[in-house]
Amino acid sequence: MLGALLAPARRLEELARPAEPEMLAALRRRWEELPGHVKQPAQLLGRRSVGCEGTHGVFPRCNLACTPCYHSREANQVRVDGAHTLVEVDRQLAYLRARRGPRAFAQLIGGEVTLLSPEDHAATLQVMRAHGREPMSMSHGDFDWDYLRRLALGPDGRPRVARLSFAGHFDSLMLGRRDLPRPASERELNPYRRRFCELFQRLQREHGVRHYLAHTMTVTPRNLEQIAQVIRDCRHMGFRMFSFQPAAFVGDERRWREDYRTLTADLVWAQIERGAGTRLPWQAIQVGDTRCNRTAWGLQVGDRWVPVLDDQVPADLAARDGFFAHFAGVDFGAPRALLAARLVRLAARHPHVVPLGLRWAGRLVRRAGVGRLVRHGARPLTFVMHSFMDAADVRPAWALLQRGQPSDDPRIRATQERLAACSYVMAHPQTGELVPACAQHAVLDPGENAALRQLLPLRPTSGPGPAGSGRRPPQPR
Ligand code: SF4
Repeated sequence: MLGALLAPARRLEELARPAEPEMLAALRRRWEELPGHVKQPAQLLGRRSVGCEGTHGVFPRCNLACTPCYHSREANQVRVDGAHTLVEVDRQLAYLRARRGPRAFAQLIGGEVTLLSPEDHAATLQVMRAHGREPMSMSHGDFDWDYLRRLALGPDGRPRVARLSFAGHFDSLMLGRRDLPRPASERELNPYRRRFCELFQRLQREHGVRHYLAHTMTVTPRNLEQIAQVIRDCRHMGFRMFSFQPAAFVGDERRWREDYRTLTADLVWAQIERGAGTRLPWQAIQVGDTRCNRTAWGLQVGDRWVPVLDDQVPADLAARDGFFAHFAGVDFGAPRALLAARLVRLAARHPHVVPLGLRWAGRLVRRAGVGRLVRHGARPLTFVMHSFMDAADVRPAWALLQRGQPSDDPRIRATQERLAACSYVMAHPQTGELVPACAQHAVLDPGENAALRQLLPLRPTSGPGPAGSGRRPPQPR
């Protein structure tokens, strides 16, 4: 009796805990799994994040052609099938939920996501959210208002999502965009980048659906020196992230055009800094292995980019350490009142975080300039560089890793180290593996796409399930 009376109070107490115990346990597990060389004070994985996740084997087909393209040559022989996508995404994400804990960012990725019907796309996002994932749809951005409207709104014309996250991939190495099939320069793509942002801005204005937009771009020697101008031209369009991927020799070898090995991380990052107009302090926070990822979080204030954390300011690094130590597992996406209650409780338990946070905020305001902030306001803007690896290195490295064998070859050994610290994985529930995206594309995609080609031929065969795939989509949650 007393237990029944106390149950709501207990539930309330649990709800107001700053961090969920399950998330804390998932972070602890993640930290323990990381190899020693990345267990640095700056490491984000295992402290605030379990890492990023992506789907695979769902809709490998694309209606543009990239040079290079990380998909295997069979990808375009596979039919896009909504029922298959729903079943697979549900299976993969259920596994990620079980292995990696209750919350993570996940990319709905394959070929081109907008080849799914708006209804199947929306249902897939719903499945991902049901597994605690914040989904981001990866697209080439060559779609219309009607598609976006039907994705965001239900048949009754009311929003079926509160927010959409999209990454628009735009670069001059892509062939086949409507109206611009062969761009000669990055600048020619700017109207298309702007149009992409404007579609989402219209959706927010007319229907209240919020958005988070990332700009992704492959970098080769051909467009390296155009990076800076892309950033200058596009940083006020509405993107919240600019992510650059130096090309690697992976995927369809028929589409390899240049010598990608001449690109070094420092060369590419220098061009990103040139565009941002300032040094980008990526060493304050590390995501996995620094040879894979560089990230600089900051604010765009007028024409000035201001870092949230400066890796050359010891007080900022102390603030980072305090944040990692006490804010692990805090869900900043929780409803505002609940989040406020949790933060008050956290501050009561660790009062020193209050002055630490206030001093950090003061430094940030001084860096941005009070006058500038009043005049321009501030928009969060993150710069990312993600460097995939060559398939020729990944194949032997992954094979040895699976046997638990370190390689004697320094290049393959370095590849193994990076794979072991991978921050971007894909789920294989049938084998119980979490596979780094590099290994997925270099080793597993060709076989997977060959099998999909049989399962989902371009010309549908008659079959028992929806769209002839023989698979049943998960029930709505
Ligand atoms: S996918 Fe490859 S490049 Fe990316 S983090 Fe994992 S190992 Fe590194």
